[in-house]
Amino acid sequence: MNRNCYKCSKYLVHQIFPYIGKCEELNIMTLETREPCQKYVEQSIEEVKETFEVGDILYCPVCKEPIYTFEEYLKHKEHKPSKKFLIDETIIEETYPG
Ligand SMILES: [Zn+2]
Repeated sequence: MNRNCYKCSKYLVHQIFPYIGKCEELNIMTLETREPCQKYVEQSIEEVKETFEVGDILYCPVCKEPIYTFEEYLKHKEHKPSKKFLIDETIIEETYPG
C-alpha cells in the first residue's frame, strides 16, 4: 500500500500549493509525500458521496474549479478535491494589500 499524507482525510490541503498542507489530527504542517502517522484515515468514497447528497460542493486545488457532482469528482479524484482549505494568511495579505 502506497500511503502518504495526501491520501489521508485529515490532510487539509493548501489552497494554492496543494503539495503542502496541515494535518488536522496532529495540528502540524506536513507534505503530501510524507509517510502518514498511525492516525491515517483514507478519504472514503462514501464520505464524498455524502458531501454531494447534503448539497455541498468540492473544490479542485489543481484545476482551480468547483466540483458539483460525483461524476465530476471521479475525473478529479487524483487531485484530491476538498471541501476545506488551509488559507495562508500571508498570501491573503499579499493578494489584497491595504
Ligand atoms: Zn482537477
